[in-house]
Amino acid sequence: MGDNGKPLHALVFPYPTQGHVTPMMQFSKSLASKGVVVTFVTTHHRHAQIAQANSSSEDPVLLEARNLGLDIRSAQISDGLPLDFDRSARFYDFMQSVDSMDEALEELMHSLNKTEPPISCVIADTLLFWSLDVTKRFGIPWISFWTQPVGVYSIYHNFHLLRSHGHYPPRGTGGLDDCIDYIPGLPKIQSRDLPSFLQLQDTSSDYVLDLLMKSFQSARRADWVLCNSFSNLEPESIKAMSTETPILTVGPLLPSSYLDSQNSRDITVRTSFLAEYQPSTWLDTKPLDSVIYVSFGSLVHVSKAQIEEIAMGLKESGQPFLWVLRPDIISSEISDCLPDGFMEETCKSQGLVVPWVPQLQVLSHPSIGGFFTHCGWNSVIESIAMGVPMLGFPLWSDQYTNCKLMVDEWKVGLRLIGGHGDNKMIHREEISSAIARLVSGEEGKEMKNGVMALRESARSAMNTGGSSEINMEALVEALKPTVH
Ligand code: UDP
Repeated sequence: MGDNGKPLHALVFPYPTQGHVTPMMQFSKSLASKGVVVTFVTTHHRHAQIAQANSSSEDPVLLEARNLGLDIRSAQISDGLPLDFDRSARFYDFMQSVDSMDEALEELMHSLNKTEPPISCVIADTLLFWSLDVTKRFGIPWISFWTQPVGVYSIYHNFHLLRSHGHYPPRGTGGLDDCIDYIPGLPKIQSRDLPSFLQLQDTSSDYVLDLLMKSFQSARRADWVLCNSFSNLEPESIKAMSTETPILTVGPLLPSSYLDSQNSRDITVRTSFLAEYQPSTWLDTKPLDSVIYVSFGSLVHVSKAQIEEIAMGLKESGQPFLWVLRPDIISSEISDCLPDGFMEETCKSQGLVVPWVPQLQVLSHPSIGGFFTHCGWNSVIESIAMGVPMLGFPLWSDQYTNCKLMVDEWKVGLRLIGGHGDNKMIHREEISSAIARLVSGEEGKEMKNGVMALRESARSAMNTGGSSEINMEALVEALKPTVH
């Protein structure tokens, strides 16, 4: 309840991609469990995609909320594109269209305010920078939600320092070894560890960078900034950012059954955009800590030549593997991407290749020994929370920085990095030898011990009295006096 006796009503609006919708849905559940009414906003297209993936004629968000006894409502607005527009193939066109959703949001907020309780705050993805102006027209708080680590937030927030030190605009491949040791709270990194848009310039980087600059201008005016991280993971970055911005870490945002054995009520995510294949029966037949789980998230594309090299690397490693190969991993047009005979021979004896899985369920299976990941932030934090060491293969955006932190700061995995430009490939020998290092020997044991320690910190953060749980409570308390 707000101070005037009315319940708080938060409009939660993630950027309409998988890696943003999932953690913000989980956040919505946390918020609603504290008595806040939540309206969760997605686009018509993503909403239809999630319903289809869940084979549900009913709204999956409402279904989820009903199962948990929470007041989470669901609303959709248009992203301005036809439902059959290929958002994967024309991703930057899709992003640009999302930038023009302000009128649709304003209309939605007016219509929601005709019901009780009226909206008392907007919690929007940091990338939806334009929602700040819409929200301020309603005279209510705007909270910016960042789905990447605090360290990456700090890099963008301190972009001016990259400029003043001559590291932006990027100096091309020759500058990739440059040392960056002046971002407050962030350990020393190289230019090659910066988010991709800051490493090398191309036309798409220009658009995304412009979006990020606008987003970080808006974020400076946010009433709070929330981040899917936790205090023991990034203490220095959090401390440094806190002197600049009211930042609260509220992660890892995962269903509580994965974090707290006492609380097994909240078990589902139900926000997958693709139908999930259930690999548990296959995993059950594999020895403890033996399987390499391979997935490159929901967005990135990988060349056919690279996919073939990965296939051969997995084969040569001799380890069992579970490989998520999205149907559009190369492009929407190319479905046949594995080497001849791979499915018939290698997969029969050693591996399983599927289009999508319930990732948390997979990572929590005792047979999983390592995660060969593109280092999307959700994947990294999920792997940490499930105690699985990683093989990092960053390809885009914050993945380079996440990989650097994962390998050199937290020491819970190894890095596989190809060159830039034409030499981007990683080769089968590098892959098979990195897998061997990850799952065996002293080095493998140290990474496993390190990730198990972080797993404990992740769990403590979310349990009663933990830092993220305290921050959630503090947020709700702080919002109460703002209810009109
Ligand atoms: N994911 C999943 N099943 C899969 C592959 C990925 O559920 O087969 C989920 C994963 O658990 C994570 C999200 O998709 O929550 C991907 O987010 P991430 O930040 O790792 O990468 P992105 O897709 O944004 O590149």
